[in-house]
Amino acid sequence: MPKILLLIILVIVALFGASVIKDKADEKKKFLQNEALIKQTNDCLNQGNWECAEKNVLALLKETPNDTNLQLHLAGILLEKGSYSDCIEHIDSLKFQSPTAEKIKEKATQLAKEEGELQIEDSRHFRLEFDGTPSKTDIYEALTVLEVAYDSLGRLFNFYPEKRIHLVLYQSKEFQGSSSRPEWVGAIFDGKLRISLSAMKHREIYRPMIIHELTHAFIHSITLGQIPLWLNEGIAQEVDGSELSERPAGAPPTLEALTHSFVKVRERETALKLYWYSLAMVKEMLSAPIHFSDLVKILQITGEKGINEALSPYGLSEEKLLEKVSH
Ligand SMILES: [Zn+2]
Repeated sequence: MPKILLLIILVIVALFGASVIKDKADEKKKFLQNEALIKQTNDCLNQGNWECAEKNVLALLKETPNDTNLQLHLAGILLEKGSYSDCIEHIDSLKFQSPTAEKIKEKATQLAKEEGELQIEDSRHFRLEFDGTPSKTDIYEALTVLEVAYDSLGRLFNFYPEKRIHLVLYQSKEFQGSSSRPEWVGAIFDGKLRISLSAMKHREIYRPMIIHELTHAFIHSITLGQIPLWLNEGIAQEVDGSELSERPAGAPPTLEALTHSFVKVRERETALKLYWYSLAMVKEMLSAPIHFSDLVKILQITGEKGINEALSPYGLSEEKLLEKVSH
């Protein structure tokens, strides 16, 4: 073989090798960049920094435009950010069917409608939204109760939510949120606190009600909603001053039943039983060695890793708590 031909072949092989190595390096770099972006996105989501989460998810979607999980994430972020029409437009543009997307769209449609129709009154930590024409007294009474409750809860948890909390004080049932809730539910927290104006007539009812729902709002901002229902409802009852009444008759509920939304429970009896066991379990948890000041840490770990991980340093688990209060 002429020397010159051998040289040319060698050069070609070397160039080819170099380009393969470069491709591999590029691939790795891209992978690491993606990993970093995903981590950063999760951090933004955990901090409730929707602007930064949106920016990162859009960047990730540029790489993998057909990633349905990312597309759903984007819909959720737009909803949280309050960009309702963008959220609806984004969901309408999706090329796949998803019950989650439908739910987000329904919520965005409802919130957009509220934004257009409800009047607004801001206080330091709250945005109060209302329909109709409630009296100024009712509005300022609600805001005052909320601000006082906010301070007490802040001190109790040693935690102050970053964002303004939204309260809907409604007269018309169309603003009561979840449309399928049963009769026994007086107020609700579904991202906004929702309380009927008619409840404002009875101080002894609405004060603990506001404190109860506000506790849910605090817990939501600590755990981002990742919490078993018994813990959420148990703490809210403990904070609103509920006493443990006589044990409800019959077998104790299962842990499964104590984990999911009680609002879906149709019968009042069953719901009361779930509330009773929730409060009993939280009282048992707080009886020692866990104090109220440990709660935020427990809630934070619960939000990230689950309740049993949070309870294990105290030699407890949800099974043990349920067992202890069951007889
Ligand atoms: Zn509750």
